[in-house]
Amino acid sequence: MTTLTKTEGEKAPTGPEAFLSVRDLRVRFSTEDGIVKAVDGLSFDVERGKTLGIVGESGSGKSVTNLTVLGLHNPKTTTVEGEIILDGKELVTAKEKELEQLRGNKVAMIFQDPLTALSPYYTVGRQIAEPFMKHTGASKKEARQRTIEMLAKVGIPHPQSRVDDYPHQFSGGMRQRAMIAMALVCDPDLLIADEPTTALDVTVQAQILDLLKDLQQEFGSAIIFITHDLGVISDMADDLLVMYSGRAVERGSVREVLRNPQHPYTWGLLSSMPRLGGDTSQALNPIPGSPPSLLNPPTGCPFHPRCAFTDEVTGNRCSGERPPLAAGRASACHLTAEQKQTNFIDKIQPRLR
Ligand code: SF4
Repeated sequence: MTTLTKTEGEKAPTGPEAFLSVRDLRVRFSTEDGIVKAVDGLSFDVERGKTLGIVGESGSGKSVTNLTVLGLHNPKTTTVEGEIILDGKELVTAKEKELEQLRGNKVAMIFQDPLTALSPYYTVGRQIAEPFMKHTGASKKEARQRTIEMLAKVGIPHPQSRVDDYPHQFSGGMRQRAMIAMALVCDPDLLIADEPTTALDVTVQAQILDLLKDLQQEFGSAIIFITHDLGVISDMADDLLVMYSGRAVERGSVREVLRNPQHPYTWGLLSSMPRLGGDTSQALNPIPGSPPSLLNPPTGCPFHPRCAFTDEVTGNRCSGERPPLAAGRASACHLTAEQKQTNFIDKIQPRLR
């Protein structure tokens, strides 16, 4: 299991099996309006061959976390603290040259919009072949052969001729496949997929997700799959991290979290999701309010201004005390274990049928 083994804020040794260990990660941006706390004490592990899903609304810190793992933040305006250990190598203090060597080689990213990742000025084939030549020292001929193989692997028809096409000559689904080929060409050990299918129609989305699963089996890569779609995650991930306001608020195996969620924010995400085969006359229940400002996040539990369960917690703990996230399967909330279970069964579960 891709477990998250220590409490947020704790320093923890890298487990022998973790390919990526993130410990107490804090990412802050300087802006004209002040300091944005984009990630605020986040810890997790990802094992080889497993998929960790990260869910949360926009601004929850999912994408910033992963751009930081890749070292793609602006060092002039960003402060990064904590530890990111990839295959035994500490990345927070690594030099740009070392990070460059890792990107595309050990770690690769698939973005939501292939048009931002593919240059319109070069053929698709050239854009897949170049990182392969750079990281492996392969000749042009070898790289072209490898590129054709990769295009075939991701299901591009007639790869021998399509290799010389420009991105605009590909459909949206084919561009996404080409980007996956580009990400996997060097057999990365860790693949970060950031909303990789959001812009695609449902049929193509399903094909791309199946493709990613097949390729993971073949290449044995660890995957971090970022999405706001809990339906997609149930099919893709082994483990799940729910993020809110730059922090992890719930984690566990995907099965545990989706079958028996224990945090009011996760309840909100699940209740606001349309269900296949669900009662169409029943209204969806969006989470009231909007995600908090990361310039000036709320005190205590960051979810308290939107939470319907604060009355059940004694004192002003919800607004005054940050709930910790314990080790293993856990949720960061002041409700007792019994209150979480009772509320889920009595109030939330009936809405999810
Ligand atoms: Fe809601 Fe309080 Fe739990 Fe936060 S700690 S999720 S505000 S009940």
